[in-house]
Amino acid sequence: MLARISLDANGTEYGEVIFNPNFVKRLSPAARYFVILHELAHLLHQHPGNHVEESADNEYQADSTALINAITRYPLMIKEFRDSIVSVIDNEIQSGNLGGGSHPKNTDRRERIILQTEKMLNSSILSISIECNFVQKDVFDAFIRDHKRTLKIDSNDFVEFKASNGTFSYLKGWGEMSLNDFTEWANYFAIAYQSSPQIPKLRYIWEWKIGSSPSEVLNL
Ligand SMILES: [Zn+2]
Repeated sequence: MLARISLDANGTEYGEVIFNPNFVKRLSPAARYFVILHELAHLLHQHPGNHVEESADNEYQADSTALINAITRYPLMIKEFRDSIVSVIDNEIQSGNLGGGSHPKNTDRRERIILQTEKMLNSSILSISIECNFVQKDVFDAFIRDHKRTLKIDSNDFVEFKASNGTFSYLKGWGEMSLNDFTEWANYFAIAYQSSPQIPKLRYIWEWKIGSSPSEVLNL
């Protein structure tokens, strides 16, 4: 898979990701997602190509950016994600591809991805905002009890209102937490969701703040 800048008929630049469908078919969904993000990261950073001296640094930067973006979408999958990428690289190494011209030093890359993932697991701070409805009062009360502090919820942030088929509690809050705390929080939320199948509306969004900058992650 490779990324490059091309020109359209009017001479305007556009980014292009080119891939071998036979290679992509062999990848797990997580690995597939990662390699696409990796190529998009090359475009984002305007890397000139794979045949320049700083090529290896560019690969590490593309991997770092891809990891940061991937865990933004799938924060609970980060270990599965890492294992999936590492197994792709292991296959490459086993089949004698040590990186060649396009992805230098696959063995170094493998170690780097493991270290990067560890660093993100330990130093990432998740910034989250939440807005949702709960149907069951006991589930709602337990949620408030467990997450009032991390989600910075105050009394203005939730209201209860009656609907024809019961009492709904509406909650709004925001907070910052570590990835581990978020994992616990999200697991709890998944359980709450299952036990309140009538939840009419659920929306929570998150964004990442990395405790260290991507360049620090890059320069482990
Ligand atoms: Zn690359």
